[in-house]
Amino acid sequence: MKEFGYKVHKERLIDYDKNDKRVLEHLKKHEPSVLTCIACGSCTATCSAGQFVDFNIRLVQTLLRRGEIEPLKKEVQKCMLCGKCILICPRGVNMRNLILAIQTAIDKLK
Ligand code: SF4
Ligand code: SF4
Repeated sequence: MKEFGYKVHKERLIDYDKNDKRVLEHLKKHEPSVLTCIACGSCTATCSAGQFVDFNIRLVQTLLRRGEIEPLKKEVQKCMLCGKCILICPRGVNMRNLILAIQTAIDKLK
């Protein structure tokens, strides 16, 4: 871990370096558009599933990058795979493929 010249209380420390990045590594190979996301939030604003349940696609991107697999697994199950977010994304992220690839990667890790 990097030394920033100050200490964080141990009980408040979240060490993301120790989290599991294997899902992200899988996606870099199978759906590389994941890397082009700029977290603009357009997908979240238009998401069909988000109209019915508490579902935030930007949160999916964040959990993925942090390697927080358990909450990521719960979050992606909410997607209806309608593909509306693909039409709106300014960066060409194929969210539907991304969600499917996340589920595949998580299943492989079991
Ligand atoms: S619309 Fe595209 S670029 Fe914007 S947050 Fe969603 S996936 Fe990322
Ligand atoms: S494919 Fe999933 S994430 Fe994209 S708009 Fe549809 S329900 Fe939302």
